[in-house]
Amino acid sequence: MLKWAVLGSGSSGNAYYMSDGETSILLDQGFSLAELDRRLIRFGSSVDELDALFVTHLHPDHARGAGILARRCDIPIHLHTKAITHNAREFAALGIPSSQVADVEAGEVIRLGTMNIFCFSTSHDSPGSVGWYIDHPDQQVMLLTDLGKTTEEQKELAQKASVLFLEANYDEKMLEYGPYPRFLKKRIRSVEGHLSNDQAFSFVQESGFSGNELYFVHLSDINNDPRLLEEQAEGLVSTPFIVCEKNRWYGTIGAAQ
Ligand SMILES: [Zn+2]
Ligand SMILES: [Zn+2]
Repeated sequence: MLKWAVLGSGSSGNAYYMSDGETSILLDQGFSLAELDRRLIRFGSSVDELDALFVTHLHPDHARGAGILARRCDIPIHLHTKAITHNAREFAALGIPSSQVADVEAGEVIRLGTMNIFCFSTSHDSPGSVGWYIDHPDQQVMLLTDLGKTTEEQKELAQKASVLFLEANYDEKMLEYGPYPRFLKKRIRSVEGHLSNDQAFSFVQESGFSGNELYFVHLSDINNDPRLLEEQAEGLVSTPFIVCEKNRWYGTIGAAQ
């Protein structure tokens, strides 16, 4: 049976764990090695059980721990080709041993144990940004964060997914009247920024997502409020959902903190 855990989501660090006992993967690694291991142990695993890492993009909250994990565990680190070629300096700074770098194109299927995994492009201000889709005999899992607008392709994938991790980064009013400088507000709202709560709800409705698990993730600390998001979603989202708060962990493995 496939199990999963949101080990962290948001600007302070992102990581998602998935395992069926035979194949175990991590999506994003925005933590120190000790912190990642602490979080994995809580869910009955450890860094030594990982078979591969899949990175959405090179912003530090998603990739800062990719190199330290690679140097400790001899596992492949999958990321989009452009994340390497168009971010040469940031990529080199991660220090991923070249023998472990596994670059892919969108749609290229990686067969790993019991899972077939591929990425799809996302609109975000980091070259080679992608979301990941995991096709497992039990569940189809989609990770969609860090994007300013959604696409038809993403809606078609979400329609087939049974588990969806979806960004709901900001409430439009909280961003508008909040403390961020104008240029940052503009960046967040842009097509290469982040998804607002309203955009996330529209995506759920328009995609026809009817899976059994919907997680709203990557909430802004400043421009969102988990209670508000929950209230807004009540009327607009018909599937059961979970709002993932900072510093709390969620999933089917172990108990949420
Ligand atoms: Zn992010
Ligand atoms: Zn980002």
